[in-house]
Amino acid sequence: MSDANAGKAQGAPSGGPLNPGDDAPPGTPGTGENVCPACQGSGKRAGAECPTCGGTGIVIEGIAGG
Ligand SMILES: [Zn+2]
Repeated sequence: MSDANAGKAQGAPSGGPLNPGDDAPPGTPGTGENVCPACQGSGKRAGAECPTCGGTGIVIEGIAGG
């Protein structure tokens, strides 16, 4: 006999860190990418990385009717 499952680790669900401007993790049903309203998609604000979108210029927002 052998314990093949010994030491098997369960990873957390995939998904990177969210930016403050994100409504939900990327790939969430009912959400989509939108241009960051804080930096208009430039990813920069006042010469620094936009804190709202994390410098991506894109935020994830709900697109479902509401
Ligand atoms: Zn931004």
